Amino acid sequence: MKSALLKHSLTLAFVVIAGLTSTASDYPYQPVPLKQVAVLEGFWLPRFETNRLVTVWTDFKKSEETGRISNFARAGKLEDGPFKGIPFDDSDVYKIVEGASYTLATHPDPKLDAYLDGLIAKMAAAQEQDGYLYTARTLGFLNGMTGKERWSNMGSSHELYNIGHLYEAAAAHYAVTGKRALLDVACKSADLIDKTFGPGEAKRKGTSGHEEIEIGLCKLYRATGEKRYLDLAKFFIDMRGRKDLRTLYGAYNQDHLPVTEQAEAVGHAVRAGYLYAGMADVAALTGDTSYISAIDKLWENVVSKKLHLNGGIGARHKGEAFGDNYELPNESAYLETCAAIANALWNQRMFLLHGDAKYIDVLERIAYNGFLSGIAISGDEFFYPNPLASRGGYKRSKWFGCSCCPVNIVRFIPQLAEFAYAQREAAIYVNLFIASAAKLKTSAGEVTVTQKTAYPWNGDVRIDIAPAKDGAAFPLKVRVPGWAVGKPVPSGLYTQIRPGTLKDVTIAVNGLPVPIALEKGYVTIDRAWRKGDAVTIAFAMPVRRIQAHPEVKDDAGRLAVERGPLVYCAESADNGSHALSLMLPAASAFAETSVEILGHKMVALKAQAISVTADLRGHRSSLPEIATLIPYFAWCHRGAGEMQVWFPSSPETAIPCSNIKTSASHCWELDSVAAVSDGVMPENSGDPKVKRMTWWPKK
Ligand SMILES: [Zn+2]
Repeated sequence: MKSALLKHSLTLAFVVIAGLTSTASDYPYQPVPLKQVAVLEGFWLPRFETNRLVTVWTDFKKSEETGRISNFARAGKLEDGPFKGIPFDDSDVYKIVEGASYTLATHPDPKLDAYLDGLIAKMAAAQEQDGYLYTARTLGFLNGMTGKERWSNMGSSHELYNIGHLYEAAAAHYAVTGKRALLDVACKSADLIDKTFGPGEAKRKGTSGHEEIEIGLCKLYRATGEKRYLDLAKFFIDMRGRKDLRTLYGAYNQDHLPVTEQAEAVGHAVRAGYLYAGMADVAALTGDTSYISAIDKLWENVVSKKLHLNGGIGARHKGEAFGDNYELPNESAYLETCAAIANALWNQRMFLLHGDAKYIDVLERIAYNGFLSGIAISGDEFFYPNPLASRGGYKRSKWFGCSCCPVNIVRFIPQLAEFAYAQREAAIYVNLFIASAAKLKTSAGEVTVTQKTAYPWNGDVRIDIAPAKDGAAFPLKVRVPGWAVGKPVPSGLYTQIRPGTLKDVTIAVNGLPVPIALEKGYVTIDRAWRKGDAVTIAFAMPVRRIQAHPEVKDDAGRLAVERGPLVYCAESADNGSHALSLMLPAASAFAETSVEILGHKMVALKAQAISVTADLRGHRSSLPEIATLIPYFAWCHRGAGEMQVWFPSSPETAIPCSNIKTSASHCWELDSVAAVSDGVMPENSGDPKVKRMTWWPKK
């Protein structure tokens, strides 16, 4: 009975749906491979260069120092010594290999190439005879996470999670270098997994507590054409929520219901994002429409109820998890950098399924805000959580015990080049405005598309089109960002007080304006193109105030400030060592100015604000002040001060600044001396939302 049920659930549904056909072999909209896109200048080039030259090597060095790389050498008997660290540390190294491989696509680097070869040799040595690869167990490091035997504790062992990242790294390294060494390790591993798990009485019916292997197996399938890997990805997804077949992990692991019945995003946010991305991949590769309707519902839930303004997901520190609907706190927001990445990867795949610009709107919001804050401009310091307010003291770190975020950043930045363009048959999609040159091979022939732009600092973009054959006819689809036309997010969760309209967008070909009519968020320019044709785009980029849906209690009576795709914030470095005491009255005016942070010039804003102060009795007074706002991603480069994104529009909701200086001879680690004079009143003596100062056990 069990196997019959399973067989039924694993039957592929080949039906025709919008965008997918019965012969669906992959996404209907295709990205343009990294190798074919060169980032040229502007906002992103320094980021790409810093990633390639600083972050890749910083991450490798830290992995060497912390034993992450020795673990492979030791498991492979290339050196002596015990396992060091946490069993999922293997995945960190795979992620850096993936990111480093992407950088080689456009920047051949013999030193990096040779370093990767050496590292891959260690990984191959660490692999056991039958393909098993998990350095902790091979080195005899067993604990409550690993379980005593292979696969005995899959809810938390990360055995399949680790190798999911191995598969992604292997596919990337093979695609870029053509070398099979890591791909062979990955295939040997996947063959073991395929022998161990799957339908039929003889195989195990487990799934990973931390999703990732699903994405990895799909990439391995694309790299090798081995259909067993795709089937296995689908098997692991279909195992979730199957209480008739296995003991479930629960909602934290998205394992409370079969995936096709899940409609609300719950649990650990990174795991959820990877699951939904994996479902999109499998849906694209198999034509399974039940997955698509599930991820469509989950996406609606996230964008309308669980998305922070900076594009972050996973509101709660506890469990690094989604909160309830509309639970979108600011200071306590968790918003792990990895969750931002998972959300972006998922949204890119949703675009590739549906061809709608709204998914790129979410991706762009993440890329410029809640993802980018995760890495310092210098490329060697990182945020793990990305909150929307800080009382000071919070800053980026060089590394973490659990260092998933720094290594995820390395592999994400290069992929932005791939996200910038897409194609479907003859149609070319310009999704992200990144100064770059892309060579596309379409059904209308080869076309070179070159973008020149200072986006996001202004909304002017020039796109030069050069078809290999003059007169080639094809539609050019230019994404009109939601923020430009009154839809900062594709839901009612955040709205502009004075919404942008189609009148804020002008597009011309060789100087002649084209009608601004949107279809799935794109303006289509369908014509015969000649070398020298230029598309000029101007998106008006005024400062816009944003309000949150009334159900978002933490943003009640508050407004945020955006300009183009950028969320702005105030931090104490520019505002006389305070920021939380700043309120922005609804009528306050803004002026653009510029600031330089670590040598990077950026557009800042001057705003007519009010600074709220309080005396020891909590009596408040307000003083006019010119506040400086900077892009959110750039905060915390000049000391760990106060910061806020959602500004109160009345003095009552501000956190007043105190001009009373306090000091103490002793302060317990969870206390703050500033709490004595911050003028903030707790609701009761145990109110955890308010900073406190206690005198126990000292007098
Ligand atoms: Zn992380």
